[in-house]
Amino acid sequence: MAAPKTKKKLKMINTPTEQHWVGDGFNVHSLIHPHQGTYEYTSPFLLLDYAPEKHFEPTTQKLGVGEHPHRGFETVTFAINGEVEHRDSSGGGGVIKTGGVQWMTAARGLVHEEFHSREFAKQGGLFEMVQLWVNLPAKHKMESPRYQGLNVEDFPVKDLQGAKVKVIAGSYEKHRGPSKTFTPINLYEVDFEKDQNLNFDFESGTNTMVLVLKGDVTIEGNQLNKTSLAIYEREGETIEVSAKKGSKLLILNGEPIDEPVASHGPFVMNTQEELVQAFQDFQSGKMGRLN
Ligand code: MN
Repeated sequence: MAAPKTKKKLKMINTPTEQHWVGDGFNVHSLIHPHQGTYEYTSPFLLLDYAPEKHFEPTTQKLGVGEHPHRGFETVTFAINGEVEHRDSSGGGGVIKTGGVQWMTAARGLVHEEFHSREFAKQGGLFEMVQLWVNLPAKHKMESPRYQGLNVEDFPVKDLQGAKVKVIAGSYEKHRGPSKTFTPINLYEVDFEKDQNLNFDFESGTNTMVLVLKGDVTIEGNQLNKTSLAIYEREGETIEVSAKKGSKLLILNGEPIDEPVASHGPFVMNTQEELVQAFQDFQSGKMGRLN
């Protein structure tokens, strides 16, 4: 018989910050941030912004953020409800609808814009999204940009008879998520169809977080409200989550990238010199422009 798995212990619970607007389309709580000092336990994830569901009136305006650069990492946008449209200077772009994910590798740099899709804005409705920044190791920071537009039907779903596990990246049991990643990452969306406890197994030494998108969740005796983020210790191999019917979680796990982080605004590099270079390269047009 295999040795019993050791539980990962909770390191901290980040509760919702005051919401702020990113452009005029995304009203977010910042649950992790590069300057927060928690990277040891969140790496390779640098930033997690959550815009809980909000009703938008129909409009002909473009709601969101106009042209801005990124270098050194990836932005991953989850359209939990509603539609997001993206366009970048490397030729990437498209619309993702409810349940879809945009995985944009900025790497050596690009400029992009992020909006509610024209169609969604015209009709209005409930909008809910998550944006995650995934760090790249030094050896991949200056690779070519890449865009992966993933639709809801691209993700395998494991039906646990009472909960559904949608595999976005990495694997869950025999199901493999379609997202291409540079370092080992597991991302699952989990919907609870009845009250139950679930266990998820990960490698010891990896970082793990659980974001509550909806419902009533208990982890190691702690009640987590909607929009709370549980962050675990690296050691241990399994987590146990107890949730009520109707709960929805985003589970994030990844192999840490233990390299220095130098970050400012839209750039995340390893040294100050590389940050200065990033600003110069953006200003001189080396990251391209949108027409
Ligand atoms: Mn951006």
